[in-house]
Amino acid sequence: MYLENLKLINFRNYNNLTLNFHAKINVFVGNNAQGKTNILESIYLTSAGKSFRTTKDRELIKFDKDQAYIKVEGKKRYTDIVVALKLDMNKKKQIKVNGVTLTKNAEILNNVYVVVFSPEDLKLIKEGPSERRKFIDNEISQMKPNYFYHLTQYNKVLMQRNNLLKKINHHRKYMDTLHVWDEKLLELGTRLIKEREKFVQRINPLSRLIHRKITESKENLEVKYMTNIDVKNTFEATMESFRCKLKESLTIDLQRGSTTVGPHRDDLGVFVNEVDIRSFGSQGQQRTSALSLKLAEIELIKGETGEYPILLLDDVMSELDINRQKFLIKALRDVQIFITTTEVDYLNQLELNEEYVFYVKNAV
Ligand code: ATP
Ligand code: MG
Repeated sequence: MYLENLKLINFRNYNNLTLNFHAKINVFVGNNAQGKTNILESIYLTSAGKSFRTTKDRELIKFDKDQAYIKVEGKKRYTDIVVALKLDMNKKKQIKVNGVTLTKNAEILNNVYVVVFSPEDLKLIKEGPSERRKFIDNEISQMKPNYFYHLTQYNKVLMQRNNLLKKINHHRKYMDTLHVWDEKLLELGTRLIKEREKFVQRINPLSRLIHRKITESKENLEVKYMTNIDVKNTFEATMESFRCKLKESLTIDLQRGSTTVGPHRDDLGVFVNEVDIRSFGSQGQQRTSALSLKLAEIELIKGETGEYPILLLDDVMSELDINRQKFLIKALRDVQIFITTTEVDYLNQLELNEEYVFYVKNAV
């Protein structure tokens, strides 16, 4: 899919902006703090309904204004798509897809498909497991709206169970209701586990292939799903093994007042030539592995939805050597790409044939 245009009113540092996009490559060039990332952020918002930089919608509204408006128009293989968001300082945000107001904001997923790659994504490899869970969750949610729903439910049930565990410590009578939460946790948790396992099984060969190409076959990337539950072939058998783990950990769960087993403790193992690069990778290895994973995600979304997602590259081109930059552009012939950069010179080296270049200067 690709986006044809973007309209912003009172979004971040923009008063009123309309941009028509090139179907392939769009480059935003400008000095620091001019509003380049703000544009990518607004595009991302039309895909996920939230920012990749902040959880506070209020920050997205222009200083001293009460409302912000973001709209994109794009083309998919068989349909046109229009997504519009209205953010308000005092009210819940309102989202419209093809003119219809959504009742649940999560319904925005599965309309505009976006993959972002920014320096932040280094975190994906080197920070704690929660960053990697977030990566897995975001990607599956984009392809499967049900997954996002189950994840939200799981987190709610987990919180309820943890509250109950704390209560039981004071009043044993609450023990009677624990099994109710356990059953819900097992059912929802097993759904997450099975989906995550499937996702990692599919992204592993894709990312390995891409990684081999980028590193000229010098590096062998492997990602592994790491969970404290034994994943079995069937849903039922996996749920049973989760059930056993939950039983075994009851004493310790009660002591701690929190649930110590389940998919909320999952991780993604990332290995290069069998070395765990979460702890032992060089900056370059971590960056390249994150890039390989992101590019694999593009293929996965295409396979799952029939549409190529849009790729947002924020400040990453200058961090890759020229061969890797060229590889990236060549490998993504069918993908609409949005690039931000402070350097215009290297664009000539890249030998792009078709692109729009936007010069971004803070108009405020
Ligand atoms: P860099 O090259 O450093 O990454 P950039 O061009 O990507 O810079 P952005 O992050 O897109 O910069 O924009 C930052 C600018 O937007 C700053 O000048 C900041 O003050 C301004 N800005 C951010 N939020 C708001 C807001 N809510 N209202 C008005 N201006 C804002
Ligand atoms: Mg920026």
